[in-house]
Amino acid sequence: MSLRMKFSILMLGTFLTLTACSNNKSITAGTDTHEAQSSPPDSILSLSGEVLKPVVKTDEEWKKSLAPQVYRVLRKQATERAFTGAYWDNKKDGIYYCAGCGAPLFDSKTKFKSGTGWPSYYQPIFEGNIKLIEDNTLGMSRVEVVCARCNGHLGHVFPDGPEPTGLRYCINSAALKFQKNPQQ
Ligand SMILES: [Zn+2]
Repeated sequence: MSLRMKFSILMLGTFLTLTACSNNKSITAGTDTHEAQSSPPDSILSLSGEVLKPVVKTDEEWKKSLAPQVYRVLRKQATERAFTGAYWDNKKDGIYYCAGCGAPLFDSKTKFKSGTGWPSYYQPIFEGNIKLIEDNTLGMSRVEVVCARCNGHLGHVFPDGPEPTGLRYCINSAALKFQKNPQQ
């Protein structure tokens, strides 16, 4: 199943709740769409396409191995303050890896200026490297983005991104480790 479809299904519940009393006829369900043949398998992949094993650690082990702010974001779902992270304004070419487990998550080619103060991308490198989870905390209905390899919290995804996906992956800098592309 494509991430866009997963996102639509997660958001559909929210949308139906919001419009339940308004007789809105424009609701379009995405649940009966056939899964695309080209959907990649849900494996976690390295940049060269090797399958990566999940990384499982206890909370104590994570706490020891991560910097305090990285730990708070990845393991405690904290959100860094806008315009304070290392990458919201990073325009260099390269790859953004998970700061917890090193799985490749986003390519600078899909990063765009969102004006939000958080690094924003319109798609992940490999769909299987991230997971989407319904998040109803803080009185909001959002879709959480999690690293599929270590289950670390990365940020949220919203339906107001640019084409071709229309999605905006709003990610905490602290959850990422950027590696610049070698000079050509
Ligand atoms: Zn990870």
